[in-house]
Amino acid sequence: MNEADNKVHDVIVIGGGQAGLSIGYYLRRTGLSYVIVDGQSESGGAWLHGWDSLQLFSPAQSSSLPGWLFPGQYARYPTRDEVISYLKQYEERYQLPVVRPVKVEAVRHVGTGFEIETSVGVFKSKAVVSATGSWQNPFIPDYLGREEFEGVQIHSANYRYSAEFDGKTVLIVGAGNSGAQIMAEVSLRTEAIWVTLDEPQYLPDDVDGRVLFDRASEQYKALTSGRANVSKPADLLGHIVMVAPVREARDRNALNNRRPFERFTSTGVVWSDGSESQIDAVIWCTGFRPALKHLRHLGVVNEKGRVDVEGSRSIKEPRLWLAGYGNWTGFASATLIGVGRTARRIVDEIVGSVGEIEKESLSNRA
Ligand code: FAD
Repeated sequence: MNEADNKVHDVIVIGGGQAGLSIGYYLRRTGLSYVIVDGQSESGGAWLHGWDSLQLFSPAQSSSLPGWLFPGQYARYPTRDEVISYLKQYEERYQLPVVRPVKVEAVRHVGTGFEIETSVGVFKSKAVVSATGSWQNPFIPDYLGREEFEGVQIHSANYRYSAEFDGKTVLIVGAGNSGAQIMAEVSLRTEAIWVTLDEPQYLPDDVDGRVLFDRASEQYKALTSGRANVSKPADLLGHIVMVAPVREARDRNALNNRRPFERFTSTGVVWSDGSESQIDAVIWCTGFRPALKHLRHLGVVNEKGRVDVEGSRSIKEPRLWLAGYGNWTGFASATLIGVGRTARRIVDEIVGSVGEIEKESLSNRA
């Protein structure tokens, strides 16, 4: 079946999560022809897979995409379901041309443009924006004997609710917001051991994702304007925001944590002092890597699993842009509030390069 049309679009955006939609928001004002292809059957991007109680660490007032404020009371922390509904309405409000489910298998450079092989046929375009996020590429670190362990192992990407672990002793690995939030709720129901490389970094109770974003923005501006003596901008997702369930867990002394174990056995783990714990399940809250498999034929993915970019534009493949993923594609590009700035810059660059593309294809035809 080939549901893809035969048109050569100016731009194909791969991924219809918050990053892809923000790109669409700016593209729709340009007159360029474009389509957003998304691998899932529904709107919502990665938020569709978050656990049931997942709460944003950024309050509603700091969780808006370009053009439309996040609805409801500004100061509260929206839930996962509210974000899904916001993204769905955002798509409808701006009539963004999202086609689903269309899974991109490979992007190939052909002539002056691209052929995009998908689950429904081949699309063609002059430029590509990759906005595929990282949820589909969960990361689990190597631990000795991991394959020997006979208990349950899941990544936070597949965690849904704590009742699944009733009666089990659970090891929760990872010191970020996912680890803290999952530890908070699992420890309410069963025995949970929290393993972190170092002592977790908590923000003060009155500092939320918004304050963190503002501070990091200041640092970023200082850094990019060449002001001296500024530290690197904080990783927005690397500090624990004290949302209510995490505060509650701290107040009942449930956030005790241990440094990593040496190795797995078939029924548990051995700690560095030689003692053993019997474990029934492990929840890996150890993060994600960019989902870039579809770009492998372009030869742009480096040994770190990223693409070398100038701003958000691939250096090796200048008609390819990347949005979302992390600070490396644009400051705070992985957050709802930050991705709009990256999207605007990308679309300005695409508009600026259209003349170049036209000239190149005319000279190729001559
Ligand atoms: P995604 O949302 O992953 O969307 C990518 C889309 O592309 C998906 O629909 C996917 O199916 C599709 N796709 C992937 N590969 C292909 C392919 N080959 N072909 C076609 N389609 C494809 N952010 C905030 O702003 N505020 C918060 O408070 C916040 N809290 C968080 C809390 C936790 C615990 C976590 C883990 C994350 C949090 N985030 C928060 C970050 C946020 O969830 C992600 O960074 C965000 O979803 C990334 O958006 P995206 O559009 O880049 O990618």
